[in-house]
Amino acid sequence: MVDATAKLEEPFSRIGGKPKIAYFSMEIGIDEHIPTYSGGLGVLAGDTIKSCADLNVPVVGITLLSEKGYFFQKIDEEGNQIELPINFIPSDFLTLLPTRTEVTIEGRPVTLQVWLYQYRGIGGYIIPVFFLDSNVEGNSDWERELTKYLYGGDQKYRLAQEIILGIGGVRILQQLGYKTIDRYHMNEGHAAFGTLELYRQLQDIERVREQCVFTTHTPVPAGHDQFELGMAKEMLGEMLPEEILPDVTYEGRLNMTKLALFFSHYVNGVAKKHGEVSRSMFPGYSIDSITNGVHSTTWVSEPFQRLFDKHMPGWRSDPYILRSAFSINKDEIWEAHMEAKRTLIDYVNNRCNAGMDYDDFTIGFARRATAYKRPDLILADIDRLVHIAETVGPIQIIYAGKAHPKDTQGKETIKRIYNTMKTLRGKVKMAFIPNYNMSIAKMMVAGVDLWLNTPRRPMEASGTSGMKAAHNGVPQFGTLDGWWLEGCIENITGWSIGPEKTEDQASDDEVDKNDLYSKLENRILPKFYLDRGNWIRTMRSCIAINASFFNTNRMVQQYVLNAYFI
Ligand SMILES: *Cc1c(COP(=O)(O)O)cnc(C)c1O
Repeated sequence: MVDATAKLEEPFSRIGGKPKIAYFSMEIGIDEHIPTYSGGLGVLAGDTIKSCADLNVPVVGITLLSEKGYFFQKIDEEGNQIELPINFIPSDFLTLLPTRTEVTIEGRPVTLQVWLYQYRGIGGYIIPVFFLDSNVEGNSDWERELTKYLYGGDQKYRLAQEIILGIGGVRILQQLGYKTIDRYHMNEGHAAFGTLELYRQLQDIERVREQCVFTTHTPVPAGHDQFELGMAKEMLGEMLPEEILPDVTYEGRLNMTKLALFFSHYVNGVAKKHGEVSRSMFPGYSIDSITNGVHSTTWVSEPFQRLFDKHMPGWRSDPYILRSAFSINKDEIWEAHMEAKRTLIDYVNNRCNAGMDYDDFTIGFARRATAYKRPDLILADIDRLVHIAETVGPIQIIYAGKAHPKDTQGKETIKRIYNTMKTLRGKVKMAFIPNYNMSIAKMMVAGVDLWLNTPRRPMEASGTSGMKAAHNGVPQFGTLDGWWLEGCIENITGWSIGPEKTEDQASDDEVDKNDLYSKLENRILPKFYLDRGNWIRTMRSCIAINASFFNTNRMVQQYVLNAYFI
């Protein structure tokens, strides 16, 4: 076995900066081949680490191994989602280190080992990501399963996972010899038990707070992680001190968001609106906002990478440069787009037998299949949809997205989409690509003509897939929620659905549906089919106005200034 410590310290010493920030996330999607993520939260974590590496920000990442991933999605003839285990062999991509640590779960010691992944930034700066693993000889069978299934199992399993991530995470860093960490950043409340370990060591609430930063991602109370207090006490034992209980429980349950809020000196939501929503949800706390982004190099498709390299060299390390996209010739933008579009259309025709056409207007919708995102809003009135396609111009719709195994509503939605696809055959071409993941996302955000996003307000904390689309000149058509409140300039970077920015009410499905169809019919399709030059101008604005800002390079700089070094 290699000397892990030497291996770890070396990359930082090249630049001269020892790691100062530990970034904790239940899921991290940093590489298409490492399936330890389920959706937006994990992809954001991966993109964050990549931008930290590009910017030489001294961070280490901590997550769970999630050896069986989330799940592999198959869809049967009737549209039923079938969940299969993922075959991921950690040793193909990660290095097992000799360092170990221990946590106590329900009074029993559980040994943890750790795997290393190293991400190399654009200038050569390397950021280590540590994947905690409880599948160690000597642990009980149940304990050995704890780091296998991302968001799997029951409440007790989940609580045990969070003990491993938070407490195990803080301890493994110390075991690995990281002595200079002075900020612990919790990406969502899952890692909040780390604060209990710091409190045990420091015995001083203020000193823990000085070190902790918390990013919340959930805009509704029901979405926050919480555990029965009795179970939490049994599982955590002495790690959960009585004196803080009034501050970290809500309605008799241990609330991970409250725990993280209590022990953090800096807290933020992930878009301006989400900051507001969080402040009203948790009065008495000071909550800032830093709007999410995506890692530009990761999400720009190959044809656009070539185009950007030619016209805007330097955009990879400094995506602000994408502002100058305004000077790129429209024909070249269209050519790059068509190349990305052909790749996607070929893929859906091969894989889903979709019979789609390169020249037809193509709408993309891909994200977690869950009720609040309303994946089938555009299918709510299929007669109207068919009428629009037949009178204004052909429409193709490409879907993808997994429903959480326990989300029956989400699964029903996939089924409904499947059935509608059969009904619409010959009138509006549709495809549902199974097993949505980062590779499929990358192909879809670049290959469609319009990115559709229909969350029910104010449920979408930020959303990031529309930012990926903008990086490929693809405009978004979406509800004014999350990042889109900041990114939508009507008819310039895309279009809004439903109430205007100044109106602050919850979404009404009927109103939104009507607005969706009417804008599609009267503004969007005619612009695409009859006014192509102006359409491409919109594409260009997406890159110049939105990609230049909604990237993790800008986001990380804000974290450094506002969260880490204050
Ligand atoms: C970007 C991404 C998401 C997040 O999409 P949202 O629009 O923010 O919901 C989810 N899954 C994958 C695989 C992604 O790449």
